[in-house]
Amino acid sequence: MLNMFNTKKDFHDSNCTVAILPVGALEQHGSHLPVGTDNIFAEYFARQIAEKLEGAYLLPVIPITSSIEHREGKGTVFVKADTLALIIRDIAESLRYAGFKQLIILNWHGGNWIIKPTIRSLNRELHPFEVILLDSGLAAHRHGEIFKHTKNDLHAGEMETSLMLYLHKNYVGEIRSQTNTEFAPQAFMDYFDVTQITEDGYWGYPEEATIEKGEKMARIFIECALEYLQEIERMKLKVKESESLL
Ligand SMILES: [Zn+2]
Repeated sequence: MLNMFNTKKDFHDSNCTVAILPVGALEQHGSHLPVGTDNIFAEYFARQIAEKLEGAYLLPVIPITSSIEHREGKGTVFVKADTLALIIRDIAESLRYAGFKQLIILNWHGGNWIIKPTIRSLNRELHPFEVILLDSGLAAHRHGEIFKHTKNDLHAGEMETSLMLYLHKNYVGEIRSQTNTEFAPQAFMDYFDVTQITEDGYWGYPEEATIEKGEKMARIFIECALEYLQEIERMKLKVKESESLL
């Protein structure tokens, strides 16, 4: 694995063609988790994946992203979604220029939804350069194996608090209980600020979090991410085969 501590010579001597970009967020996560939570998770998973894909280039995390829905929680810093799209575009183009063939984005913040339409375009515009998204919801179909709550556990809830307990127990503070335990659907972030419709800024069930759940989540997420990358490779072969028959 290469990263920002390697030199120009290291890059030239390697035949590195894949770059992995962690994308996090700097935003309030209730009273019990740090504002940099999404950066910690994005970096952790990007590193795990980079280590599995020998010879990949692990880029530093993009730490300030699209968190306007958390703007009222002090400690949150955000850029506009359009700005994030431009940053992603520029990074993809500069990697392509340098001879890379693939950019894998590990995004750990739901508010960065603009990455999806951006890469859908980039994959056509920059072809044969590829941009692939590994999103924090990638293992959602398996959350039922781990968590009590799989619905509306969106932010600093059972899943994220479990992961933080597993990765950095010392970063988990006291959970301030909310009297209203019914959480709105995610789409309501389009209309309201998170701190307007939650009591402590979290959206989900952190009181159900455990280290064991966090360990299982980390393992399953990495499994699902690697499977997803393999699935794409298989589909590429299939497409190539069917095109060669034409
Ligand atoms: Zn988060």
